[in-house]
Amino acid sequence: MNTISDNILALKSQIAAACLACGRNPSAVTLLAVSKTQPTSAIAEAMQAGLTAFGENQLQEALPKIQYFAAQSPEWHFIGPLQRNKTKPVAQHFSWVHSIDRLLLAERLSEQRPDYLPPLNVCIQVNVDNEPQKQGVTLAELPALATAIARLPRLRLRGLMTIPKATADQAQQRRCFATLRQAQENLQLPLDTLSMGMSNDFAVAIAEGATIIRVGTAIFGTRPRAN
Ligand SMILES: *Cc1c(COP(=O)(O)O)cnc(C)c1O
Repeated sequence: MNTISDNILALKSQIAAACLACGRNPSAVTLLAVSKTQPTSAIAEAMQAGLTAFGENQLQEALPKIQYFAAQSPEWHFIGPLQRNKTKPVAQHFSWVHSIDRLLLAERLSEQRPDYLPPLNVCIQVNVDNEPQKQGVTLAELPALATAIARLPRLRLRGLMTIPKATADQAQQRRCFATLRQAQENLQLPLDTLSMGMSNDFAVAIAEGATIIRVGTAIFGTRPRAN
């Protein structure tokens, strides 16, 4: 079995190859290590290998990890569904939220972001493929939400996030990512982030302009439990 540091090395060369193939600079793509369900020992190994940004999708699981690594203080990204009664600890303990899909959540996060921290970086999650079970705004709802969030004082709207429909069809993945990129351009706001691409589709996402890829399995192996 490969170790986590082996996986990270292999992944970095795949990211570099994907960037080279489309003429992008690898430094423009951030590797966000999705550490949900992983123990602190696995996260420590990824930190040893140089990773500094970690993604979690459940608050109660994330908080003890954040506390455990308080001295190292990596950058924590909240990437999961967010409930309105859980916004305060997210505003206090994370640097990024990728999964905003309602103005109410954004307003609460802005109000609850502590003064001693920089503004919270946020992305709007877009349900590009219109899957009923999935989080995210529709493309039609996006412009009004983006305009409203961009005005909130304690948030910094950075860009858009999507999770494409599960498929092995690269052309279909690519259409989803291209649609998100076009939607971001259409907003005409000063946005710099496209959070798209996971273990199975990050190369296609990079070709379509991803600036943050969210990778779990390809770093840590198969997750110990479903999440
Ligand atoms: C779990 C998860 C990922 C990582 O998925 P892998 O296929 O393991 O790379 C990325 N983004 C979100 C929102 C997730 O919940």
